[in-house]
Amino acid sequence: MSIVELNEFTQNATAFLDATLQRKEPAKKFVWGEGSDNVSMFEEKSREAEQEMVTTAKEWRTKKFDAGFGWITGPKEYGGAGLTAEHERAYAAVEANYKVPNQSIFTIGLGMVAPTILAHGSPEAKEKFLRAMWRADIVGCQLFSEPGAGSDLASLQTKAERDGDEWVITGQKVWTSGAHYSDIGEIICRTDPSLPKHKGLTGFLVDMKAPGVEIRPLRQMTGGASFNEVFFNEVRVPDWYRLGDVNNGWGVALTTLMNERAAIGAGSGGGEVSMMTRITQMVRHYGLENDALVRDMVANLYINYRVANFNNKRAMDKMKAGQTPGPEMSISKMALVNNQQLLNEFLCHVLGAKLQADTGEWGTYAWHQLVVGAPGMRIAGGSDEVMRNIVGERVLGLPKEPGIDSKSAFRDLKVGTQKG
Ligand SMILES: Cc1cc2nc3c(=O)[nH]c(=O)nc-3n(C[C@H](O)[C@H](O)[C@H](O)COP(=O)(O)OP(=O)(O)OC[C@H]3O[C@@H](n4cnc5c(N)ncnc54)[C@H](O)[C@@H]3O)c2cc1C
Repeated sequence: MSIVELNEFTQNATAFLDATLQRKEPAKKFVWGEGSDNVSMFEEKSREAEQEMVTTAKEWRTKKFDAGFGWITGPKEYGGAGLTAEHERAYAAVEANYKVPNQSIFTIGLGMVAPTILAHGSPEAKEKFLRAMWRADIVGCQLFSEPGAGSDLASLQTKAERDGDEWVITGQKVWTSGAHYSDIGEIICRTDPSLPKHKGLTGFLVDMKAPGVEIRPLRQMTGGASFNEVFFNEVRVPDWYRLGDVNNGWGVALTTLMNERAAIGAGSGGGEVSMMTRITQMVRHYGLENDALVRDMVANLYINYRVANFNNKRAMDKMKAGQTPGPEMSISKMALVNNQQLLNEFLCHVLGAKLQADTGEWGTYAWHQLVVGAPGMRIAGGSDEVMRNIVGERVLGLPKEPGIDSKSAFRDLKVGTQKG
């Protein structure tokens, strides 16, 4: 690809963005006490406000797709533009200058489910779902966790039984983010309990509006209800909704999880410059700049943010070079939650009771949302302890954790109230 071609692409992108969105105003210097003090981790919206966000997010993505910028690196046969990662980066750099409607409803579908369909889906499923997902005609969710299977995902018990050209799914999933506004889900089911637990699983796509699917919201301590319990009562899916071979669902799940850690870890180095600005201005506002303990906490935060940033860049460079994200992403995720914990300790120390009770004072209680949202991040996408196990075993070469029986038939294991 020539520089002329890339320039032309960038000009076209700029013309499209100018025609559809407003440009961001030049960033104003941050002044403590002015503008928004919202620093929440999860956006907690009412169902009505969320529905409005979903509609706006979809409308914008459809326009972007129809203009040829919706799936820049995707294969042409499935609706992609068939261009390079360089085009993708060039577009992202231009788009960053515009006020793009919140696109968070696509994080799971496009960041995790769509890449899995591309890697493991049947030709019919790729044809039916990929273009529709990237164009925002449909939204996808991830149906992995169950009441008895989270970190130990391979212990899941939702079953899929073959019936001619169809499969019948029965069981329960939990913590399904965005299930209530999703159209399809990627589900991992047990298809052969006579095999060891990692070997008898199969991945499928499932229509979230099909008869037998029941979605119930779960309220979390931040006040919102962004995830759900999902019950499957003899839900039928055609065989061509299957992802990968029968009983090869573990490989399918790993494709999704690898993309999940990449998406979450990518946040560990971003946005901290403005966070550091807020932190240092808070210290000045409360006249704590000469307090030795506070100075130590702030310096520690800065150093950890910078290290996370460099580690992230290293992982991203590897991805740009066409290599698969590996255990580095587990380190990025650990850095993200570790830095969050350091920030929480700093906030508790400086703000004290103002974090607990809303006095109306700018920049105090607003941090509460961030602090109560942080534990969720320690669990989502693999808990701290599980990440440490991965780094211990795969990066440091430590002996494998004992106790996980991966040889006996699943039905012979004592897992929860196993129904086989
Ligand atoms: C914000 C958020 C969004 C989510 N969205 C989704 C979603 O969209 N779809 C979905 O399928 N799931 C989702 N989840 C669920 C998430 O994947 C699980 O919560 C996670 O895998 C942990 O499983 P669990 O909750 O069952 O905890 P458990 O696995 O029961 O863990 C309980 C505790 O035991 C520790 N532990 C477990 N195993 C080990 C071990 N081997 N060594 C040491 N310690 C261990 C854990 O670290 C944890 O502290 C979401 C979770 C959160 C918080």
